[in-house]
Amino acid sequence: MTYQPPSITALTQRYQSVKQRIKNACLQANRPIESVTLLAVSKTKPIEQISVLAQHGQACFGENYLQESLTKIAQCPELEWHFIGPIQSNKTKAIAKHFQWVHSVDRLKIAQRLSRQRPSEMPPLNILLEVNISEEKTKAGLTPTEVLQIVAEIVALPNLKLRGLMAIPQKQADSEAQRLPFRQVRELLEQLNTQHPEWKLDTLSMGMSGDLEAAIMEGATLVRIGTDIFGAREDRSN
Ligand SMILES: *Cc1c(COP(=O)(O)O)cnc(C)c1O
Repeated sequence: MTYQPPSITALTQRYQSVKQRIKNACLQANRPIESVTLLAVSKTKPIEQISVLAQHGQACFGENYLQESLTKIAQCPELEWHFIGPIQSNKTKAIAKHFQWVHSVDRLKIAQRLSRQRPSEMPPLNILLEVNISEEKTKAGLTPTEVLQIVAEIVALPNLKLRGLMAIPQKQADSEAQRLPFRQVRELLEQLNTQHPEWKLDTLSMGMSGDLEAAIMEGATLVRIGTDIFGAREDRSN
């Protein structure tokens, strides 16, 4: 079977329905709709589909795989690009040069490299610390304790702007179980803002196709949605 790309109509309908879900969740959470940014996660998806969404007003896109993303960024440099995938040291240079945001900073060394490699004539690179909130052994991310240990050093790095936290909790079926780790991430951000109001950390990147409502109920300011906009991904495991 060859891969059938979705029709433009199907793509834009799915996009509108994700936007509607975000709106409904904001209403339920009693939050302004503008308080939640939709990041369209376009990994493995072709530039044609990205362009269709851009024509419908979508401004920011999330990518996981460096080579693939560099091609897309070169084709659509006017969009806002967020790197959300695992980062190996040998990739930091290109990431620092081509992205506006990095969500997956999970160790001090990566932040130091991004800081050194971000061209100083560009605006500071917006970064988030990835939190392994459920402290799963196999998962990337800093434990909350590690975040508290290294955050001041990260804030002090030039050419970076720490904006907040990102998390990918374990999949849970029911919404109460989904909300608990999101609440813990929000509380960690609140703790940082209480200790250091001058840092003005304003971003909680949490919530994906299966749990965006729970994330918004717990204060997500940015949800990262792939499958429910673009359809299933066929070629990579995640
Ligand atoms: C792939 C990916 C997403 C999108 O997940 P969906 O379930 O397809 O919406 C979000 N965040 C990260 C970090 C991802 O790698």
